[in-house]
Amino acid sequence: MSPVDDLPPLRDVIRRHGLTARKSLGQNFLLDLNLTLRIARAAGPLDGVTVVEIGPGPGGLTRALLAQGAPHVVAVERDPRSVAALQEVAERFPGRLTVIEGDALAFDVRPHIGSGPARVVANLPFNIATSLLVKWLTVEPWPPWYDALVLMFQREVAERIVAAPGSKNFGRLAVLAGWRAETRILFDVAATAFVPPPKVTSSVVRLMPRADPLRCDRSALERVTEAAFGQRRKMLRQSLKSLGIEPLALLDAAHLDPTARPEDIPIAGFVGLARALVAAHGAALS
Ligand code: SAM
Repeated sequence: MSPVDDLPPLRDVIRRHGLTARKSLGQNFLLDLNLTLRIARAAGPLDGVTVVEIGPGPGGLTRALLAQGAPHVVAVERDPRSVAALQEVAERFPGRLTVIEGDALAFDVRPHIGSGPARVVANLPFNIATSLLVKWLTVEPWPPWYDALVLMFQREVAERIVAAPGSKNFGRLAVLAGWRAETRILFDVAATAFVPPPKVTSSVVRLMPRADPLRCDRSALERVTEAAFGQRRKMLRQSLKSLGIEPLALLDAAHLDPTARPEDIPIAGFVGLARALVAAHGAALS
């Protein structure tokens, strides 16, 4: 019998620790241990990998990650009630679970993960899921401190992360994610799997950081995508005016059609625009 089988049922943990779900904390718990095991397996072999889990809640996914062989799980949780509940799991897996009470948006987990490979696996609080993803995708230096992100999002957000050019979901998030990572939706999870059930279906997404993304200045890339997708129905020659540099010169330098709309531009095209913006600023300064 593994130490996981020995732990009390999650409903019991929730009842004893008064863990009634709070909407303000994006709390939708997974109590089906077969499902949490499926998510943990989707994270790949965990031998030798430190797993960072954001928002462990009552600990269903945490248990699965430990059962799947993660030698160390570092869990960051904002809700003190959950932190108390997780002590039982920590005791059952001595030295393998570190629970940190804190706000994952503000917290730098790097000092806690050691020098080996690290992976983020989480059923994220939906209200801050995109902000957390952007934080991980914009981390410096690159390649990042993690070797993969395996994360639950609302399906609509998952579709915006993996969207390809030409799709109505293609936008700033897809450019940033696709520039720095290979992205894939692994599987959907029905709303009924959560307690309480959210309004929409969720999806588990895997992002594998690219070792060598196309070279460009990240903030310039963010500026061009903000300008282009800020007015996504307009042609680039119009929307890029907000950058304060003659759009036709930028588009020419990036070899892009001035009448194109942003959703039709491949990621390499935005990288070309970012490079042109940096070059134009350099020229303006000299
Ligand atoms: N992992 C658990 C599960 O699958 O049942 C809970 C997932 S629930 C969707 C999100 C969790 O994130 C909650 O436990 C919530 O308290 C926690 N949380 C919310 N905001 C947070 C923040 N800023 N930093 C860390 N944890 C947070």
